[in-house]
Amino acid sequence: MNQQIMCTVNSCAYWGQGNICEAPKILVTSDAIGDAYPESMDANEVTQLVQQAGLTPATTCMETCCKTFTRKKQ
Ligand code: SF4
Repeated sequence: MNQQIMCTVNSCAYWGQGNICEAPKILVTSDAIGDAYPESMDANEVTQLVQQAGLTPATTCMETCCKTFTRKKQ
């Protein structure tokens, strides 16, 4: 699948010109998971994450986050 992820979070290390995410893959999950798990838990660990925490249905977009966000070095 050739997918483009548009993003406005320009303080992220993966953010690129044209507001395009340049990460090879990202993990979108619930805010609760984003809070509870360390930075090291990311897209490559999604199977482990689902085994541990289960799936994370949301009701609104405000309940989801990009777990791949990595603060750009200043
Ligand atoms: S990793 Fe997430 S926050 Fe960072 S540019 Fe991509 S979509 Fe945006």
